[in-house]
Amino acid sequence: MTHPKITVVGAGNVGATCALWAAARDLGDVVLVDIVDGLAAGKALDLQQTAPIMGFAHGITGTTDYEATAGSDLAIVTAGLARKPGMSRDDLLIKNAEIVSGIIKELVSASPDVILLVVSNPVDAMTSLAHRAGGLRTRRVVGMAGVLDSARMRTFIAEAADVSPKDVQAYVLGGHGDTMVPLVRHSQIGGVPLAARLSAEQIEGIVERTRGGGAEIVGLLKTGSAFYAPAAAAVTMAQSILRDERRVLPSAAYCDAEYGVGGYFVGVPARLGTGGVMEVLEFDLNADERAAFNSSVAHVKALVEKLAELGY
Ligand code: NAD
Repeated sequence: MTHPKITVVGAGNVGATCALWAAARDLGDVVLVDIVDGLAAGKALDLQQTAPIMGFAHGITGTTDYEATAGSDLAIVTAGLARKPGMSRDDLLIKNAEIVSGIIKELVSASPDVILLVVSNPVDAMTSLAHRAGGLRTRRVVGMAGVLDSARMRTFIAEAADVSPKDVQAYVLGGHGDTMVPLVRHSQIGGVPLAARLSAEQIEGIVERTRGGGAEIVGLLKTGSAFYAPAAAAVTMAQSILRDERRVLPSAAYCDAEYGVGGYFVGVPARLGTGGVMEVLEFDLNADERAAFNSSVAHVKALVEKLAELGY
């Protein structure tokens, strides 16, 4: 695919920043969509005028009309409410379900071959809803959370160990919420296990800060939630898919037999390339990790069941 078309729905903090990162990486032509008249068009025009300065070649347009999204290769869905202080991601469930289900129908009707990359929260449940509402094959639907949560963990490890974050590997699996599972045993500093460089107390502090990473930023911003790193994470996943990079990135991917999940979208390492999710990779989890993962998956299942009761 040499000249992809990328739709970003939601021209708020995450969506507009996705458009910015996608343009900066020359990933393809971007169509930004928002329900608020003029918002996407205005931000797209502003971004397009960075092209001569930043030197990228693709176009960015903004609209309220899904006709302009026709023939999209990939759509990043960021529309919906964001958290405010004191709210959990789950508090967004009902309102965002209504928003996301409408959007998915419009997107898939304009682009039947689209790949959906869902960001709206609570993301695991919204990814499942997107799959059902769009009627696409499971491998063409994926959610973003693990790349962000793992990046937060890598940042905190790098700070504590005084090393470059590029040389820190860390994995956060399960649902994107308070039950997320930072995999300490599988995380490394330049290939060396964390425990060889950091105290148990430091590691526990990193795990807790990772779990509360989103809330920490919401508490500081007071009017919304994080967007620079979430957008960078979503665009990195989009890039791996559109350029068939086959990167292994923690993603909300459909798991049936994988990890014994039984047919839900949850955070697992996934190989992303042409067509979307090419494969789910399985960690060898010990009993404690397995228990934490299962409890996180149970939480995602409960949200999905709540959606089903509401008719989504
Ligand atoms: P925001 O309020 O800045 O932007 C949301 C945008 O969606 C607004 O511009 C709004 O007009 C638009 N919108 C609402 N309904 C719409 C509709 N029906 N069609 C088109 N556009 C519509 O919020 P944000 O900070 O950009 O966050 C967006 C979502 O992403 C939130 O649900 C947030 O919780 C989620 N998020 C997820 C992650 C993650 O890791 N998965 C990280 C950060 C944010």
